[in-house]
Amino acid sequence: AAATSSPGAVQATNDDASASKLSCVKKGYILDDFVHFFVKRPIKRAPLINRGYYARWAAIRKLLLQFLDSVGPKQILSLGAGFDTTYFQLEEEGRGEVKYVELDFLEVTSRKATIIASREQLQKKVESLGTISPERGEIHSKHYMLLPVDLRDINSLEKAFECAQLDISVPTFILSECVLIYLDPDVSRAVVNWAAQKFNTAVFVVYEQYSPEDAFGQQMIKNLESRGCPLLGIHDTPSLEAKRERFTKNGWPRAVALNMDEIYRSEIDPIDRRRIERLEIFDEFEEWHMMQEHYCLAYGIKDATQGMFDNFGF
Ligand code: SAM
Repeated sequence: AAATSSPGAVQATNDDASASKLSCVKKGYILDDFVHFFVKRPIKRAPLINRGYYARWAAIRKLLLQFLDSVGPKQILSLGAGFDTTYFQLEEEGRGEVKYVELDFLEVTSRKATIIASREQLQKKVESLGTISPERGEIHSKHYMLLPVDLRDINSLEKAFECAQLDISVPTFILSECVLIYLDPDVSRAVVNWAAQKFNTAVFVVYEQYSPEDAFGQQMIKNLESRGCPLLGIHDTPSLEAKRERFTKNGWPRAVALNMDEIYRSEIDPIDRRRIERLEIFDEFEEWHMMQEHYCLAYGIKDATQGMFDNFGF
């Protein structure tokens, strides 16, 4: 298999993400009634980190709600979902009428299934007809599916597609948040390509790091390396143009890539932005812009319906 971070180390980045989301929830940045079930040791994050997670959450949510607001059946496929709780939150908000499929390493899906099985509030969101198998790291229900996959193995992706009974012709939102960047570039290209071949009408949304050249970028790379999670894709997609091209050269006719500094300024609801900017004292402006300039949101669009995605996106 291609090189990758050790599952243990990558799991730690997933635990980190959940802890940061909980920190945001507690301070009032974001609403998520379920993430606390997935965090063993809650921690308070610095305002800079809270604001960064808020921006990520708000940007992805904007795209997700645009997608969900269109008419007709829909599917969501989350690659490297970790302990993401979006499905549970959508269900809570009455938006759970969508096939929602989550894939990750067996170690992670197994832990996730164990936690879901042990909490009534989570379990009841997964319909009663469903089955939960912590050992196999699987949950099967009418709307929600959790399956173990190693993304480096396209066959296992293919099997998960069949097993989840995803439908080629149903519009699909594919999400990969801080995942492809940890994979060998050949692997992430293969995944992007596989998705383009697999769905007729879809948007593939990627949120991750880029811009490795400057001092901040170098430090970011070092930090993750020292934690056993090298950013294997960072030199292959160092620029917004490269993030875009990963889509356009791998089966996605249209693609957009923006850095998070720009997204925060121009794409996030200004009223909500003003609300969160009053939550904590914040004076790390220089570091904030630098950090946000090293994260991007990119998406590829493929639209066989000729219209569903005409007004989609930023
Ligand atoms: N997407 C989640 C989020 O944003 O909260 C989790 C992000 S976490 C940084 C990266 C996730 O990718 C981990 O849960 C990890 O297990 C998963 N991952 C990394 N490499 C993978 C692979 N080869 N196959 C399946 N999952 C993988």
